[in-house]
Amino acid sequence: MVTPEVRFLAAEKIPTLLKRLGERYRVFAPVKVSETTVLFQEYREGVQIVLDRQTTAPAKEIIFPQTERLLSYTYRKDPEDPQKIELQVEEAPQSAPRTIIFGARPCDARGFRVFDSVFTAGPYEDPYYSSRRQQTTIVTIFCTQPQNTCFCTSVGTGPTDTEGSDLVLTPITEGYLAEAITEKGKELLQDEAFVSAQERVEEAQRAKEGIKLESELDLEGIPQRLMELFSTDFWERVSAKCISCGACTYLCPTCYCFNITDEAAGLEGERVRTWDSCMFYQYTLEASGHNPRPTKAERYRNRVGHKFSYHPINYEGMIGCCGCGRCIKSCPVSLDIRQVLREAKAYG
Ligand code: SF4
Ligand code: SF4
Repeated sequence: MVTPEVRFLAAEKIPTLLKRLGERYRVFAPVKVSETTVLFQEYREGVQIVLDRQTTAPAKEIIFPQTERLLSYTYRKDPEDPQKIELQVEEAPQSAPRTIIFGARPCDARGFRVFDSVFTAGPYEDPYYSSRRQQTTIVTIFCTQPQNTCFCTSVGTGPTDTEGSDLVLTPITEGYLAEAITEKGKELLQDEAFVSAQERVEEAQRAKEGIKLESELDLEGIPQRLMELFSTDFWERVSAKCISCGACTYLCPTCYCFNITDEAAGLEGERVRTWDSCMFYQYTLEASGHNPRPTKAERYRNRVGHKFSYHPINYEGMIGCCGCGRCIKSCPVSLDIRQVLREAKAYG
């Protein structure tokens, strides 16, 4: 049955759709920046959009920027009385512009659900993240050709998962079947580029049924298993070739660690939030010089343990990994997190 929430979007209409949407929203789409690299960038007429592959980096930066100013401050000192200090603070605006992420993948959308569990659902809501998240509409393309590094089905999601998306697109002949998941998605369907989907619903259904990505990892009991291995030499063995470059965390749609620093010049400064990485020695280095995680084995244990043990234990079973495979593809020494999890199950 065709409902108003299901429409057809011709591939040739996408540039004009994005241009029109750009009059009301900030619009991001996957853009080819080199022969091997596709990144989400703000859409401009004439750029080459790539919708048939996963982007090199996830869409995370659009809602959780790599660097953002939280506030600016100025000190005024009374020259007659140096103990007298006046502090003026100007907080960064917490309102965000309406934004569209066009051409995400189900794993990208699921990545934001992991962020939501930490930044919007707990007792300490992050107003900067929350505002951008609420103002963002995510248009997701189902993955008809998963890559051999994809393992989303092993972590509770999949190539046709709708969680975290507002509108989903199924690739079919000459375009996409578009289905609204939320009110924000329905709003987009009002655009004239979306037309009647008469006689295309069955083709889309067949396309979805034809997508095969078997679950390849048995994660049953893995949160407890990783805790059992906490004090063993397992982590030294599996992390031996890691060079602590941090690529796996920077390219991960679910890594949300950050640092806050005051960048001052004279009596003025800014408080800035910047992505951080638990794979770096400095991440846990304390002002006293003590470092509770001084070795890369301990740091790698934290990365895997956080995603597959601490996060599901603390957030109602939600695994802190969306199975996108980017850490596998981009690791310069080919450390494969799937293999580490398999070995963890079999170890000892
Ligand atoms: S840990 Fe690796 S596979 Fe999992 S979400 Fe992060 S980058 Fe993707
Ligand atoms: S990308 Fe590979 S080498 Fe770099 S920190 Fe991650 S696991 Fe280590």
